[in-house]
Amino acid sequence: MASRRVETAIGPAVFDFGAQYFTVRDSAFAEQVHDWEALGLVKQWPIPRPDAYVGVPAMNTVLRHIASTKDVTFSALVKGLKRHGNRWQLMGEGLGDTWYDGVVLALPAEQTAPILTLHDFELAQAALFARSQPCWTGMFAFAERLNHASGVIRDSGLIAWATRNNAKPGRSGPESWVVQATPRWSLQHIEFTTDQVGPLLFNALAEEIGAQLPEPIGQSIHRWRYALSAGTGASCLWNPMLRVGACGDWLIGPRVECAWLSGRRLAERMVAAASIAAE
Ligand SMILES: Cc1cc2nc3c(=O)[nH]c(=O)nc-3n(C[C@H](O)[C@H](O)[C@H](O)COP(=O)(O)OP(=O)(O)OC[C@H]3O[C@@H](n4cnc5c(N)ncnc54)[C@H](O)[C@@H]3O)c2cc1C
Repeated sequence: MASRRVETAIGPAVFDFGAQYFTVRDSAFAEQVHDWEALGLVKQWPIPRPDAYVGVPAMNTVLRHIASTKDVTFSALVKGLKRHGNRWQLMGEGLGDTWYDGVVLALPAEQTAPILTLHDFELAQAALFARSQPCWTGMFAFAERLNHASGVIRDSGLIAWATRNNAKPGRSGPESWVVQATPRWSLQHIEFTTDQVGPLLFNALAEEIGAQLPEPIGQSIHRWRYALSAGTGASCLWNPMLRVGACGDWLIGPRVECAWLSGRRLAERMVAAASIAAE
């Protein structure tokens, strides 16, 4: 649910460059989304589908809200876990020397595997075998409106999805388009540089719009190496003896709702295990 701000000559353009919208199927998640909606954090965006929601004014609003109620350290890469007695320490720069009772890895499978495998190989196997697909994403801002009525392009050539980002609910700012390539094309071009991929995504958008596009007034290109997860059949992982576990969309499926459900299931398991231990 990532959003990126790009400065332009006519003001900032803010792009949702990861998840484009999310849908709601589970009743507990529906309740959660209802609460977010009441707080003004999300709105329905019926253009791609009737049950689609987006964060307002940007996709990351929900995460900012959750983070504001927790003690969060940003921009700190966890390189490993150290176990001493029955406590855990996070290894990496800027993480301090706090010892924790338990650890949850809420990372993509490919980043979970190397950390978990040193401590619980059995648990780590699910992550070791999970493979996600990449997604090259282009963000382009323009000084004028592009000639495309619906503002949504799907499954055409190398484009899996492209949209007029500033037309989503609660957005403002310059005309801005997000272009996401298909998993197949992204994989074929995975080791290209952003300078190489940018023009290819831009030209694909021009081809879809059917006209020569004006020069962008701002742009950014991002490679998501681990974008679309496959799901494992398990909803979460938890070792009650070591008090280490994992959650994330990759355990269920490649959707925001799946990530939320995985976290919720893990929390339920942790609470249940703690209650048994306390008896
Ligand atoms: C391009 C793209 C388009 C998508 N489109 C949609 C969509 O339209 N609808 C939908 O429902 N879903 C979509 N998804 C999927 C959705 O974004 C995911 O399902 C959801 O974000 C998964 O949440 P998560 O918390 O499991 O993992 P993530 O959102 O991947 O969060 C994991 C976090 O861990 C951090 N991290 C990783 N390694 C470390 C480390 N070693 N130390 C510290 N931090 C680390 C990462 O920086 C990241 O912030 C899309 C995803 C992508 C990438």
